[in-house]
Amino acid sequence: MSIQHHPDIATLMSFSAGTLDHPYATVIATHLAMSEGGRETLRQIESIGGALLAEEPATAMSSGALNRLMDALGGEKIEVIPHDQRGGGSLPLPVQDYLPGGLEAVRWKWTGPGVATADLAWGDDGKSRLMLLRVAGGRRVPEHGHGGHELTLILQGAYRDRFGVFARGDIADHDEDVEHQPIAEPGEDCICLVAVDAKLTFRGRLMRALQPLFGI
Ligand code: ZN
Repeated sequence: MSIQHHPDIATLMSFSAGTLDHPYATVIATHLAMSEGGRETLRQIESIGGALLAEEPATAMSSGALNRLMDALGGEKIEVIPHDQRGGGSLPLPVQDYLPGGLEAVRWKWTGPGVATADLAWGDDGKSRLMLLRVAGGRRVPEHGHGGHELTLILQGAYRDRFGVFARGDIADHDEDVEHQPIAEPGEDCICLVAVDAKLTFRGRLMRALQPLFGI
């Protein structure tokens, strides 16, 4: 299945400029490892950025952004990961450091009926974080809004919400004015790599009461 949902251009531009905190940069780099279309868009952004910089003679062109990008992508070596590959060896390179044993070795924390999470890393600002979200097939994530920027990349399975169906390689790029209720498609667990920079805001009173226990 081809990738249908891509990051916002603004997010890609921040990634290209090296200004995304690393939980977000990791999600974007992992998406790009899975998406030829995403890499092409990024190449266009880089060339436009390069042309703009080249027109400013007083400013030395920053080679940093492109170098950081190539580091994140592992040079030319990253291929789009075939849909049927699993496990640590076949996870996209940018996320392998966080998941040395693959998805099978993750220590999941129960977060609600059919829902589990696992923290992977915190951002430099101490607020943003990189985590995994697992939703059992057919189960739903409680309806919520976002206190900040939420980037979600589907590593396995698929979910559906009012924006459509998100499958492996797709990315959902939501900011604070979005509310949604993802439901995993029937079948295998939906596992997502998520970067968030604030607590989710749940609509239901029960979820709000339980939220401090779950740490989400
Ligand atoms: Zn959300």
